[in-house]
Amino acid sequence: MSKIPHRFYLTEEQMPTQWYNLRADMKEQPDPIINPGTMKPAQVEDLYPVFCEKLAKQEMDGETRYIDIPEEVLEMYKVYRPSPLVRAYNLEKALDTPAKIYFKFEGNNTSGSHKLNSAIAQAYYAKDQGLAGLTTETGAGQWGTALSEACAYFGIPLTVFMVKVSYEQKPFRKAVMETFGGKVIASPSDTTNVGREILKNDPTSSGSLGCAISEAIEKAVSSENHRYVLGSVLNQVLLHQSVIGLETKTAMEILGEYPDVVIGCAGGGSNLGGLIAPFMQDKILGKANPRIVAVEPASCPSFTRGKYAYDFCDVGRITPLAKMYTLGCDFKPSANHAGGLRYHGMSPILSKLYHDGYMEAIAVEQTKVFDAAVQFAKLETILPAPESSHAIRAAIDEALMCKESGEAKTILFGLTGTGYFDMTAYASYTEGTMADHIPTDEELNSSLSRLPKIPGIQE
Ligand SMILES: *Cc1c(COP(=O)(O)O)cnc(C)c1O
Repeated sequence: MSKIPHRFYLTEEQMPTQWYNLRADMKEQPDPIINPGTMKPAQVEDLYPVFCEKLAKQEMDGETRYIDIPEEVLEMYKVYRPSPLVRAYNLEKALDTPAKIYFKFEGNNTSGSHKLNSAIAQAYYAKDQGLAGLTTETGAGQWGTALSEACAYFGIPLTVFMVKVSYEQKPFRKAVMETFGGKVIASPSDTTNVGREILKNDPTSSGSLGCAISEAIEKAVSSENHRYVLGSVLNQVLLHQSVIGLETKTAMEILGEYPDVVIGCAGGGSNLGGLIAPFMQDKILGKANPRIVAVEPASCPSFTRGKYAYDFCDVGRITPLAKMYTLGCDFKPSANHAGGLRYHGMSPILSKLYHDGYMEAIAVEQTKVFDAAVQFAKLETILPAPESSHAIRAAIDEALMCKESGEAKTILFGLTGTGYFDMTAYASYTEGTMADHIPTDEELNSSLSRLPKIPGIQE
């Protein structure tokens, strides 16, 4: 084949028509989620009050290897997919590395991130079930934006609980959601019991993702024919995001390439889980042995300093309990500009794979992440999201190690989105006022000491 192009796109015919469910190939399944009411493993029916039925089934399905992408979802995917697989020639040259650097760019849609891949699927299933509305939370705003777009398309009313600090700092994010018809409420709010309780104890609370989740769930279960949807962490979300990895693998096959290292940023684990899915399949089945690396912020280090334990997915302690790497559901991450990575827990699928030694994780500091973001932006013309820039940092470091060792590795990373709504962060970086906050052991021990107790399972 002649020179590999800068941007490589599959044709519509080459796009995947099924999602890949990594659990079907895992040697051991993630531990079951626990119903907090009974403290016993949850049954699929337990999830019906909260999730759409078809999504609840996907959540619990550890067996079906490939699941058809509904026609309506595929049609919408084709509006903004396939996403390009990019060869970062300029970055390679600037680093003077023998490594080849590829990235899969998911920022080519208005929502600006990979989150649209699952938002479309979840809004479709809500419409399919004839729901009257959906509720959700959003931290930095990307998920709320993606879901507003998807709900607008399928005609589903949407209420978004937006973490108060982002609501105040990112008025344009709110405006985008409202443009698409989403109703945005700053969380904690006085519209739910959980919110009122938090405000009573701390009237100036700036909110957290876990708190917004509690409010969104309460609103869903207390409103007629409404359900709650979540943009990360859950098995169903990783399933939908497998479209990223499937496209990448097909594209690399056509180009005659295969990654030695696959790198992705990890907040709740959905983009990483999606990108690595088919490569992890090869690894589990013994067909190939790529290194798989999760990159998280040093300010919210779930994998690298958390505990593998059962925990709630929200601060209000109303969600089912999941076995995952967690910092404790009431861990309050310090201010960090990568809002999408400030979550106390991690996907149970990725947690299990990490625990069983199938993947690695590293934590990186914010200022070093922005060094990489700016270097990348200047060379590759894309202004990366702060979240995505964690993966860029790790990819650059990997390429620099190749320079030392002379190894011509093939590096693949996920570029999850663009950073146009994060200019306050970029400004604080260029002004030199950006700080690195790393939690102390005492802070982590404090929230980890309050992990829930489950009789016979976690004392
Ligand atoms: C939400 C988000 C992330 C992190 O979420 P994951 O579920 O871990 O993928 C990463 N990058 C961007 C741009 C995001 O919006």
